[in-house]
Amino acid sequence: MNKLSDRIQRLGYSQTFVMSNKAREMRAAGIDVISLTLGEPDFNVPDLIKQAAHDAIDQNFSHYSPVPGFLELREAIAEKLHRDNNLQYKPGQICVSNGAKQAILNVLAALINHEDEVILPAPYWVSYAEMVRMMDGEPVILDTSYHSDFKITPEQLERAITPKTKAVLFSTPCNPSGSYYTYDELQSLAQVIARNPQVIVISDEIYEYINYETKTQSIAAFPEVYEQVAVINGLSKGYAMTGWRIGYSACPEWLAKACEKIQGQMTSGPNTIAQRAAITALKTDPAEFQYMIDEFRKRKDIVYELLKEIPGFKVLLPKAAFYFFPDISFYCGKRINGQLIHDADDFAMFLLDHAHVGSVGGTSFGSPDCIRFSYATSEENLREAIRRIKVCLEESVITPA
Ligand code: PMP
Ligand code: GLU
Repeated sequence: MNKLSDRIQRLGYSQTFVMSNKAREMRAAGIDVISLTLGEPDFNVPDLIKQAAHDAIDQNFSHYSPVPGFLELREAIAEKLHRDNNLQYKPGQICVSNGAKQAILNVLAALINHEDEVILPAPYWVSYAEMVRMMDGEPVILDTSYHSDFKITPEQLERAITPKTKAVLFSTPCNPSGSYYTYDELQSLAQVIARNPQVIVISDEIYEYINYETKTQSIAAFPEVYEQVAVINGLSKGYAMTGWRIGYSACPEWLAKACEKIQGQMTSGPNTIAQRAAITALKTDPAEFQYMIDEFRKRKDIVYELLKEIPGFKVLLPKAAFYFFPDISFYCGKRINGQLIHDADDFAMFLLDHAHVGSVGGTSFGSPDCIRFSYATSEENLREAIRRIKVCLEESVITPA
């Protein structure tokens, strides 16, 4: 008899962690694997943020915080949203969580009833579809492609909305594609949303600072949809604080209160030391942390030139975040050295086994023709990883299936 719930049996593992664990296990077995799997900055936490955490320990911030986070942190978030995104939020509309991951889950748990539909433009971040299913909802996937810069059109969105649609969930800048919606594109999506007042947009803006072109926009800045948007953000990416687990949502007050209710029963307020450090991070001029973005930009340009040289890869130059998401459909439905490659997941496994480079196949991002490489690692690792892939594929025999 299976003792596990139906819910847990339906749930998939996070493929980002599955592939990074596989790479780690191979390394532990003595195989020299370069892992371009997990998306997390390879920088240390900036010293002034670390100092704030030391101070918080010395000042005995050792008790429970309020469930949605310290008021001072929520004020700093409100100020940041005003400073960077021209958004007006009161601390009562903000809930600080254990990473953006929990912030998204809180919002979904607050909104989704059995079989409610949540629209996910693909490629989407791996956890979105599983989170929707965990809440008993139905993901509705909208396809995009390499040719449309992996973005949906307002017409596509409009056609997908049904009476059962509860939410639309996307990241801009996007993990995995590295695209983001321009002001005009967001405005036309906002017009569709405004015509459908039952729909909430969950706008994941966690890669906001990791951006190589113009500043990105938040859909919440369009007044006609402000009441229909939950903004998600956090400190994992822009401040290299992945392990400190601070993320947040900013929503209409009724939704923020619901998030607080859920979090109060699940995890309480997040780690108090990390919260105090987050206050310092958010109050510091983002220009102080620009050095990380400059380094990512340099790597992106190098990786782009190298990836373009790999046979069968169609590569878009990402505008933001730290991922490449090449279309490798050339290899799908073929055999490499006799091994059948159905989709990008098989291809990612082939690269791990034969080139000793870890990546994440696109199926769990809703794009089975693509493969994700994170370039949040050293230039040396990146050059060597791509050299290995190129040599491996050039030396392989590709035949029809
Ligand atoms: N959203 C996106 C698009 C992400 O890539 C990540 C990365 N983990 C998250 C949310 C979750 O971030 P956090 O570490 O704050 O939970
Ligand atoms: N967001 C990162 C990624 O996409 C971290 C892993 C995760 O949270 O899934 O790789």
